[in-house]
Amino acid sequence: MKLFADYHTHTIYSHGTGTIMDNVNAAKKKGLKEIAITDHGLRHFTYGVKREKLKRMREEIDEINENNKDFKVLLGLECNIISSDGQIDLDDEAMKYMDIVLLGYHMMVRLKGVPSYVHIYGRHYLSKISKSMAEETRQSNTDIMINAIKKYKVNIITHPGARISMDTGRLAEAAAKTGTALEINSKSNIMTVDYLKVAAGHGAKFVINSDAHKPEDVGNFRNAIKLAEMAGLTSHQIINAVKS
Ligand SMILES: [Zn+2]
Ligand SMILES: [Zn+2]
Repeated sequence: MKLFADYHTHTIYSHGTGTIMDNVNAAKKKGLKEIAITDHGLRHFTYGVKREKLKRMREEIDEINENNKDFKVLLGLECNIISSDGQIDLDDEAMKYMDIVLLGYHMMVRLKGVPSYVHIYGRHYLSKISKSMAEETRQSNTDIMINAIKKYKVNIITHPGARISMDTGRLAEAAAKTGTALEINSKSNIMTVDYLKVAAGHGAKFVINSDAHKPEDVGNFRNAIKLAEMAGLTSHQIINAVKS
């Protein structure tokens, strides 16, 4: 399987080590044709992109695109869920700058209001102690994510099932309807062959990403490609695969 794009990479605008240009050069070296710069969403406590930097990121990317006709750079954010009814940390003003929207569950996010902390993080920790709460919490986390992808145009759900537990089968069913791709993240090993088969059965589309936090990791897809192939996925089910 051959991929033409890496749609999930971090830079110094959150907690990556490379600049936008470093990631672009790394992607070109790996023979890719497209890259997305997707630093952490605005309400991530420690790594979130500062809102006032979005304009500069956009300008930097526009200039690179201007000078590279055979390579495309997209600006995105890896957004966060911020409320128990599925709001995310992306508003109309920030959306103006975006080419692509990623969404994933993360810890250390500034949520909206105390009930959301109780509902999302509180239950997450309780469910680690109480087995009886675990399944209920898993379903409620899934509902929140499904609400979010219905409310917003989300292109990709990053590392589904990692950090905060979700019913990935039910999520896949909803994602197939909203046209949201499920990420096979090359860095995290949360996905299993069985899960990919179930999700594919619901008609979900996938994307294989590096989630690189340093330029040398851009385009590192080895683990994810192996998994996709073991699950029998074809290039037509993976949005960034060269179609064969
Ligand atoms: Zn993430
Ligand atoms: Zn990431």
